[in-house]
Amino acid sequence: MVHDEALDARDEVVTIAQVAREGLPKAGWRCAGATPDGVECRRPLTARALESELVAPYFAGTHIDSCSRSSLRSADAPGDRGHVVAQGPRATRWRLRLDDDEPRQGPDGRRRPDDSVPGDRTRRSAVDRSAPPRPTEDPHSLSAFLDAALAGDLPVEAALPGGPWMPGGDLIVPAAEATAARFAGGQLIVWGRVVATRPTSLGGTMLVFDGAADGLAVLIRKEHRGYYPLADDREFVPRHVMTYGRRAGSDARPYVTVPAPRGVVFSPTVHVRSTPKAGDGGP
Ligand SMILES: [Zn+2]
Repeated sequence: MVHDEALDARDEVVTIAQVAREGLPKAGWRCAGATPDGVECRRPLTARALESELVAPYFAGTHIDSCSRSSLRSADAPGDRGHVVAQGPRATRWRLRLDDDEPRQGPDGRRRPDDSVPGDRTRRSAVDRSAPPRPTEDPHSLSAFLDAALAGDLPVEAALPGGPWMPGGDLIVPAAEATAARFAGGQLIVWGRVVATRPTSLGGTMLVFDGAADGLAVLIRKEHRGYYPLADDREFVPRHVMTYGRRAGSDARPYVTVPAPRGVVFSPTVHVRSTPKAGDGGP
């Protein structure tokens, strides 16, 4: 499990792809995780493996106790226990990673990934440069997907958790192209700029995309609104937003419902609280 996002000096999310693409410094980033009580970690992180053809670049560092992005939880994983996994140079294939719940540490207690300390039980890759390039499955956060979309740098293939591989441009769709026909096959990742918001009759917040096909919008349900520390719904404007799901609502007023508080991301960033605060936004 890798971290592909961190915070910059202004507390905005920076993805590892941005660091690589824009030649940003390797150091000076901070952890975006928090404890279950909402204490933010903010420990220093460093970008690693930026030039590697073998592993995806990632942010590495230490964390405060119980940080949601620390390596304290442990479980075995395929390739652990000393297996050497031969692979050729990597190709780009992204699978959406939804949260930080998966363990990041081998059963021997060694942090994973760690490219400086050899372990005897954790997975290691051996490079066989004569092997054909093999598509690897890189987990990436929704923030990284939004960053890639904004940069016009979508992965060749992409997938939702548990979903089939699709051409990146077929899964990750700008709101202007997110027609009912495009949704016919199931869930999509949709993104665009928020130009307005409107309250729903059930106390939720509808984010209205700029130029969306059929007027498609994004619904933040009432029970999720308190996770976003914006006092006024208008502060969602004019951020870029990305979420995923199926099309719902009437043909005249379609929307995609945000599936979970972290199932929507914004640029500039809107931090997601660990626990909701009552009374923010909404009617
Ligand atoms: Zn942390």
